[in-house]
Amino acid sequence: MGLGKKRREGKRKEKDHPPPSPSILYSLDALEMTAHPYAHRAATAAVSALHFLDLFESATPTGRSRLLDGSARPGPSSWLHRVPTCDRFSFHHQADHSTALALDLLVCPPQLRGMHCRMCACAGRLAPVPLTGRHFVSCPHGLRLHTAVHDPVRDELTDLCEHVIGSDHVVRECGGGMAAFMLQFPLLRHRPDLVLCDVDGPGTYVIVDVKLLDAAGPTWIRTRHTDRTRRAAHLDLQRQWQRAYFRDFPSGEAPTGVRLCVFSISTFGAFGPDALALLRTLSRRSGRMVPPSLLEEASWATPVFASFARMSLSLSMRRSLAYRLREAGVTESAARDLARQPAPVPEDPDRAFDAPESG
Ligand SMILES: [Zn+2]
Repeated sequence: MGLGKKRREGKRKEKDHPPPSPSILYSLDALEMTAHPYAHRAATAAVSALHFLDLFESATPTGRSRLLDGSARPGPSSWLHRVPTCDRFSFHHQADHSTALALDLLVCPPQLRGMHCRMCACAGRLAPVPLTGRHFVSCPHGLRLHTAVHDPVRDELTDLCEHVIGSDHVVRECGGGMAAFMLQFPLLRHRPDLVLCDVDGPGTYVIVDVKLLDAAGPTWIRTRHTDRTRRAAHLDLQRQWQRAYFRDFPSGEAPTGVRLCVFSISTFGAFGPDALALLRTLSRRSGRMVPPSLLEEASWATPVFASFARMSLSLSMRRSLAYRLREAGVTESAARDLARQPAPVPEDPDRAFDAPESG
């Protein structure tokens, strides 16, 4: 064999089997902390962005709204990746998890297939649940009753706030403290869901109003274009309620030391900007960590306060909604029986997850 041939063969072997390099052997911990998250994020971003665009292009306006809402950062789907170990992070009925998943995927929950809406039947009208199962979004006698879905989310948020800043600084909606607060600001047009004291500084108040919505509701899509603009419904609610709360104050502004936080969450789990800002404030107050009093309920999936709060609040909303939907369906014959003896239930757009027509 000639010298040139030997060299060429040597180079080819080197190419196929490169000699071990004298590089530093990083510890696995360091590798995990430094390289892996970036590589994983870059690869996932490229693959999921392509997948997202494929889906988005082929989706209906309802599907596009759902995709945009679900892609709002921080990702609302993180609650799915957790093994529940405590009540706060569990579904309390075997059917509720599948209902929540079905709603997330825009398909009809199994127990609502072929059923009629109980609330509409009680009000004297027959309303078959469509194949999408999304009658609840715009049902005029709907589910967003204060005792049904809204209140559990409000109570969850109140509980989290108390763990971080202490119950002395949290005024609950139903407590005597709220009556005293309303007397202090008689021009307020609405009763807040909760009030946080001294969060922005001594003597300040943050008024919190919890709002739940479905960004893929037909009126939100038609009037606020939630199929083209991410979080358009959340922002709209913030503007609407800013005006509504302080209309009677001079120049329509909040008085000094008072500000409103519209804590909006969509049924797909996306939080509004105000809500995220409040969670960031609470997170700073707790040093980013889960407060010691909640540590028993924390897990690897909720290592810091922000993820703990987002997960517990979005799950609270999904669990309440799934629970109400489990009771919302009746057979056609039962619906006809109920409709024959209607109770006087007036239509109220505020009970739906969709935007009011006039909004
Ligand atoms: Zn209905």
